[in-house]
Amino acid sequence: MPTAQYPPEKMMFQLTLRRRGISDQAVLRAMEEIPRELFVEPADRADAYRDSALGIACGQTISQPFVVAYMTEQLQLQKHHRVLEIGTGSGYQAAILSRVCSQVLTLERFRTLADGARARLSKVGCDNVEVLLGDGFDVPASAGNFDRIIVTAAMERIPEGLTERLDPGGVLIAPVGPPQDTQTLVRIIRTDAGFERKELVDVRFVPALPGIAREL
Ligand code: SAH
Repeated sequence: MPTAQYPPEKMMFQLTLRRRGISDQAVLRAMEEIPRELFVEPADRADAYRDSALGIACGQTISQPFVVAYMTEQLQLQKHHRVLEIGTGSGYQAAILSRVCSQVLTLERFRTLADGARARLSKVGCDNVEVLLGDGFDVPASAGNFDRIIVTAAMERIPEGLTERLDPGGVLIAPVGPPQDTQTLVRIIRTDAGFERKELVDVRFVPALPGIAREL
């Protein structure tokens, strides 16, 4: 590999993920291959590989890389899985997911963000991702059920309507807690007997809001 493809900040990026406990090779590879600099605001390109969240359009944020990798790893994805993401934002998390499963449907309530994400995902060749302008509290029935669901905006509680969209054996991960404070990442597994719930780590996400945004 030419060294130009491995600038020091990308080496550090991989090292940080490993040091913080990410060990799933498919996830690490996806994090290595997807150019995060294309998903951040042009003014933030120099900081694209820092382990921190950054502001994007519409007052939203692209999550910290460690959190993206951690949530992806905790989903225990298999190559044949169909995944629903709520909160497209920049499209970065969807791009990472697209490398480790077969199909991603991602919903975003801001048209500007949905359009921007669609363009970036197509540019990086993630053609197994569908970006839909929509409300994660009201997922269209026509979308069917999913093997995995990932929510990347904070919810005060996980709506039953969402866990019901998990296939048997399915896994959902969401930040749950007060909108302007720290939330807990919660993992729900749909078993034959019902739902198993586990609290993982503390996180901070922008709030999930109902309905399509009226502003662009
Ligand atoms: N996953 C994104 C970051 C998510 S930021 C990335 O990789 O860049 C959270 C996003 O969730 C914001 O863009 C916000 O507009 C969106 N959001 C909030 N409530 C929503 C809802 N009800 N339905 C769909 N998207 C929502």
